Amino acid sequence: MTFRTLDDAGTIYGQTALVRVDFNVPMEAGRVADDTRLRSALPTIRRLNAGGAKVVLLAHFERPKGKRVPEMSLRPVVEPLAALLGKPVAFADDCVGPEAQRAVGALPHEGVLLLENVRFHPGEESNDPAFAAQLAELADFYVNDAFSAAHRAHASTEAIARVLPAYAGEALRRELEMLDKALGAPERPVMGIVGGSKVSTKLDLLNNLVGKLDRLAIGGGMANTFLFAQGHDIGGSLAERDMAETAREIIASAARSGCELLLPVDVVVSDRVEPGASANVRALGEVGPEDKILDAGPETLKSIKDAIDGARTLIWNGPLGVFEIPPFDHATVEAARFAARHAKTERLIAVAGGGDTVAALNHAGVAEDFTFVSTAGGAFLEWMEGKTLPGVAALAA
Ligand code: ADP
Ligand code: MG
Repeated sequence: MTFRTLDDAGTIYGQTALVRVDFNVPMEAGRVADDTRLRSALPTIRRLNAGGAKVVLLAHFERPKGKRVPEMSLRPVVEPLAALLGKPVAFADDCVGPEAQRAVGALPHEGVLLLENVRFHPGEESNDPAFAAQLAELADFYVNDAFSAAHRAHASTEAIARVLPAYAGEALRRELEMLDKALGAPERPVMGIVGGSKVSTKLDLLNNLVGKLDRLAIGGGMANTFLFAQGHDIGGSLAERDMAETAREIIASAARSGCELLLPVDVVVSDRVEPGASANVRALGEVGPEDKILDAGPETLKSIKDAIDGARTLIWNGPLGVFEIPPFDHATVEAARFAARHAKTERLIAVAGGGDTVAALNHAGVAEDFTFVSTAGGAFLEWMEGKTLPGVAALAA
């Protein structure tokens, strides 16, 4: 799909941009504990200012459910953002109405203003056109730079884009371009790794992927469900035994679309899920009644590495084992480091996303070496499911 970017915005000198950003940052004791999301917004803010535009930033923070909740104010973001930008950032106590209009009116040329939490208003989550119209009064055009919020049709992501001229910001553009490289129009062979705990939460994702990938490695707890569905004994492992038929359907659908499935051929088991618990390798067929499958075995890991070796593109969501508890992080860490080495030398386009996946890549120390790591959570998963994201659709060229 094609979408409008800042390249399409024409002359912006002297205009005011309303920019939807993701400032839903981790806070500790009222202070920003991780400024990754603030940094992500800098290229767009700088580009707009450099073109002579004023920047009005719009964001949500947590879930105030349409009411003003003082603890969920965005005010603590002002100081760290100003420090990163190297210029003052003004703040308005409300994102619409007289207070917001006064603050926009007081902005100097190339000034930056942050508006209060957009979710203090019920019209945000109900995608209310009247609320979007109030937002639109503040600016000449709209920029969406928050991929992580693009799966929600909210006033600040969807309705607003129908009122003002609307463009993708730099971070959103890069995210969409990278995701397109991974799954939209990938260099082949393209492989996937999908792990995590449950098939049931990733059903749409698996169904979409088998239609698009040349190979798909399935790991983590969800692989147990597949092994069970194939008639293997999985002992006391986590699995969704009622999803066996679904797993068999996915296997059949992969075969129909010519997607080679890589299921575990051996496993790492323990009787306890605890740090340093004794880990044993078992072939399929050797899993005892007390055994819990907690990681992929060495032969399985080798076949995943061989597949990565033969791939031009890798898309990864979900760890291969209980990576939070060593030694059951082994296969995840090894596969991640292997993929990262290939990505670093540009033999492989390696794209990953998902909350626990990002944590696992950080644990392996390789998040920086991947071609792209999405921190968008729900939006990333919906995109992997092949869904149209309303916030992106609203920017269609
Ligand atoms: P993401 O957040 O990246 O989408 P998920 O939430 O689907 O990933 O899955 C991550 C979780 O899956 C982790 O908490 C991990 O411990 C768990 N997991 C992985 N393998 C197993 C397994 N064999 N048994 C139980 N849990 C597992
Ligand atoms: Mg998770």
